[in-house]
Amino acid sequence: MKINEKRLTDTFLELVKIDSESFNEKNIQEVLASKLKALGCTVYVDNAGKKYNTNAKGNVIGFLPGTVKSKPIVLSSHMDTVTPGKSVKPVVKKDRITSDGTTILGADDKAGLAIILEVLQTLKEQKLPHPPVEAVFTLTEENGMQGVKNLDYKKIKGREGLILDNEEVSDLLVQGPAVNTIEVWIKGLAAHAGVVPEKGISALEVAAYALSFMKLGRIDKETVANFGVIQGGKATNIVMDQLYLKGEARSLKNEKLAKQTAHMKACFEKAVKHFTKKIDGKVRKPEVKFVSVQRYPAVNVPKNHPMVKSVVAAAKEQGFVVRPVASGGGCDANVLSGFGFTLPNLGVGCRGCHTLSESLELKEFFAACNITLSAVLAYRK
Ligand SMILES: [Zn+2]
Repeated sequence: MKINEKRLTDTFLELVKIDSESFNEKNIQEVLASKLKALGCTVYVDNAGKKYNTNAKGNVIGFLPGTVKSKPIVLSSHMDTVTPGKSVKPVVKKDRITSDGTTILGADDKAGLAIILEVLQTLKEQKLPHPPVEAVFTLTEENGMQGVKNLDYKKIKGREGLILDNEEVSDLLVQGPAVNTIEVWIKGLAAHAGVVPEKGISALEVAAYALSFMKLGRIDKETVANFGVIQGGKATNIVMDQLYLKGEARSLKNEKLAKQTAHMKACFEKAVKHFTKKIDGKVRKPEVKFVSVQRYPAVNVPKNHPMVKSVVAAAKEQGFVVRPVASGGGCDANVLSGFGFTLPNLGVGCRGCHTLSESLELKEFFAACNITLSAVLAYRK
């Protein structure tokens, strides 16, 4: 039981030559759907692409029936790349593949796509007893994860498996933060600052007061919060009546994120009370509009989850030590976790993703494919 390294490399090289920057995934989506069909999968393409501005129809879900009784195992990678990702000319070196330096390589995440195709091919070719496998290829991960957010996930029968969208094969991402984007609009009361400042309410002071007792920065080991944008004010002689703040909070625990967000909101409410006053006999108070939108939920795969254990064991056989680690950012796994999926994110061997010096380390690439194959073969549920 071994994958075909030459074929895996050829598939990768074929895929990186297909332009697929975010929102231009039509070609690769069609190629992948037909490759899955040729491998004996039932293929369903959802309508995610109709829900936002991409030229592709949708996410691709391929189902390969199992030869042993089990729930399906899910393998997922994204189809899009960042820019500049057009006319990629891969350069194959002894131990790695790079671009020619004028574009990205696109190993993020075409290495993942190639691995999944190779695993399916190996299962079929070597007639290995295996559970059903579901390949989930998503659109537009690199731009707000819009593909997966619109995924027709009810068409997927499995709920456990692997995402292949990380760099080093030794890092298995099992935790990733939930993120809320927070916007605050403060409306004070304008007044001539030189003549009657007491008739004004400064939106800036309201914000400053709220922020003075708000917990920001590092909240605890798992939680952080920050305001990164502030806009307001017209002139030095006007009490500032409008102020806009934009920030975010992140936590590895959904409950902690909710708590931090509520705390931030409460600080502004306290400031509103503090600055409420009588002006010319009338009660005047600042107005605060606080809007928090969840960008994506947290990923939290227990370190002793069978999926993690089987990856760690398979890696050991390949001579690699895989450690379950936390990420500071988000990927498809976060959104899928919100849909009830448990998908640790395995590295595919790329380096320098999103840069012109992106490379794919072949030894790790082959190992990631073998590890994925072993994890599939070991899966029973
Ligand atoms: Zn990626």
